[in-house]
Amino acid sequence: MDHFLYRDGVLHAEDVTLTEIAAHVGTPFYCYSTATLTRHFRLFQEALAGLDHLVCFAIKSLSNQAVLRTLGDLGAGMDVVSGGEYRRAQAAGVPGERIVFSGVGKTRAEMAYALTHGIRQFNVESAEELRVLSDVASGLGKTAPITLRVNPDVDAKTHEKIATGRKEDKFGVPIARARDVYAEAARLPGIEVVGIDVHIGSQLTDLAPFETAFTKIADLTRELRADGHRIRRLDLGGGLGIPYTRSNETPPLPLDYGAMIRRVLGDLDVEIEIEPGRLIAGNAGILVASVLYLKQGEGRDFLILDAAMNDLIRPAMYGAHHDIVPVLEAQAATDQRPVDIVGPVCETGDTFARQRSLPPLAPGDLVAFRSAGAYGAVMASEYNTRPLIPEVLVHGDQYAVIRARPSFDEILNRDTLPSWLESPTP
Ligand SMILES: *Cc1c(COP(=O)(O)O)cnc(C)c1O
Repeated sequence: MDHFLYRDGVLHAEDVTLTEIAAHVGTPFYCYSTATLTRHFRLFQEALAGLDHLVCFAIKSLSNQAVLRTLGDLGAGMDVVSGGEYRRAQAAGVPGERIVFSGVGKTRAEMAYALTHGIRQFNVESAEELRVLSDVASGLGKTAPITLRVNPDVDAKTHEKIATGRKEDKFGVPIARARDVYAEAARLPGIEVVGIDVHIGSQLTDLAPFETAFTKIADLTRELRADGHRIRRLDLGGGLGIPYTRSNETPPLPLDYGAMIRRVLGDLDVEIEIEPGRLIAGNAGILVASVLYLKQGEGRDFLILDAAMNDLIRPAMYGAHHDIVPVLEAQAATDQRPVDIVGPVCETGDTFARQRSLPPLAPGDLVAFRSAGAYGAVMASEYNTRPLIPEVLVHGDQYAVIRARPSFDEILNRDTLPSWLESPTP
């Protein structure tokens, strides 16, 4: 459920019409709903109620500081995958003891920054990284709390590019080698083992792969404890999928996910961490665009929008589906016609949908891409020198621009000419 609903024939974000926001900030823009973000975060809190737990928002899915502050104020921790994301969490006021650091390629500088400013744990992905972390921490006179991310060799049955838990994927330590690496971790200076980490992929639409992976983690917990390690925390990653089409998708609910966690891991006397991104942010955001042209092609019509693949890359990158709806609700009796919905970028890949049925639309009409909150704005680029589009946050009947559209001067001034190209003074 989200808070983007038609009222009096106009799509609203909570209590604000999208036509009003569009008139104020111009299109295209991203729009997020505070009520939806809050609701989704609380679903996870309820799902894990009674367990010692921390819900860490995977900020790579949506990293605007206003969103981080909203969730941080509700008590969320943050899962970061770079020094830049660490700084975002910090700037949003989230203390280090609620920040976990994931990622397969952490640099020494990133490790040192997090150690200096405070960190709940590093989710270490290899023996090689562990040795570097030990060196950095010892050099600073610090102790790095760590989990080892294990790769349980489980197929998440999701899109090829976002499955991360199979042995051929680059992530984590193969579970069969985990005991050896934990033994090394226990010997290394500057390292304190606190638990185990696993994340098998994103947009999972079935609980079974999670359960298979978590069962392996439960077994590993017992083995590592028998080896003498103090395993007091399990980080279970993110990955719960969302419905991208209204009609026929029913991904698992957080409550059922929580019940499964309780069943598989509940008797281990551990603290549970989870790292959801998409389920919190995905349906909490939409992208609003204007129709530029309705172009008649040979046997098909193209609806050309002012948004493009650089603003929302998921369709081009993953073949992803987004529901696209008119901001002014179509009359029930209106004939729908199939159109290809495309952007202005000079690539055929800049196609959001093919032969999608839509009511008749004219230049200037507004459309909304649903479920665009996660992996939308954060993956945008300025390809074709198209300015990054603004982000707007709605809260009841209020709204605010939380990232403004840059001016062309700001974009152009980022380039600098080398001395040999500077124009000679006459
Ligand atoms: C991407 C990622 C997540 C979040 O995944 P979602 O599918 O957005 O919930 C969590 N943990 C790690 C380590 C990730 O890489």
